Amino acid sequence: MTAAEADELARRFEPLPAQDLLAWAAERFGDRIVLTCSWQFQSSVLVHMLHDAGLRVRIVELDTGLLFPETYATRDALIERYDLTVERVDPLRTVGEQAHDEGPELWLRDPDRCCALRKVAPLARALEGMDAWITGIRREQASTRAAARKVELDAGRGVVKVQPLADWTTEDVMGYLYAHDIPYNPLHDRGYPSIGCMPCTRAVAPGEDPRAGRWAGTGKVECGLHLPVAEGTAD
Ligand code: SF4
Repeated sequence: MTAAEADELARRFEPLPAQDLLAWAAERFGDRIVLTCSWQFQSSVLVHMLHDAGLRVRIVELDTGLLFPETYATRDALIERYDLTVERVDPLRTVGEQAHDEGPELWLRDPDRCCALRKVAPLARALEGMDAWITGIRREQASTRAAARKVELDAGRGVVKVQPLADWTTEDVMGYLYAHDIPYNPLHDRGYPSIGCMPCTRAVAPGEDPRAGRWAGTGKVECGLHLPVAEGTAD
């Protein structure tokens, strides 16, 4: 897909429902499209939409080995409710092996390297052979995501990013979840608007920036999954 085509598609789908974009993407990319799930509430919406429309799309979870018990329980509840087949892509080293090789608690000393090892490199493996990648990112989540479009070209990774919820607010997400009685991560109701790995995620106070609980005090705001990579350097 060319940049011009992605641009045209982004414009076409901007006013349309998320379900229309998912249906188009499933048809266009067939077995070469993947949905990655972090088991935050966007994942709940997207797996429900796919299930509701009968769309068989490959689903991958990027399991850092450091997720909250509530996150794993949410995954299990969604798998059971919607009879999902979920493929897990793990980092090449376990948390213990990483501690042995790099020293303990790498996330405290070099979170960018830790994310590169435990998130970004596994994503690159998950995207091997894929033409398109469905993500749950929303513009409202962070200033770094404010310009997200519903269809984008990720030239560095060589895939089209399909982002059906780009224009959804938190209220839109919660309204959809309640309307369809969908299981979602209970941490969202306990002050966690954004949920990642346990060592790098804390609850936020009312009115605080929704991403303030991620890598708090480090200046880091993104794990790298949704940042551009230079072409051919995704690993
Ligand atoms: S969020 Fe924290 S623990 Fe998880 S991969 Fe990144 S630095 Fe490591």
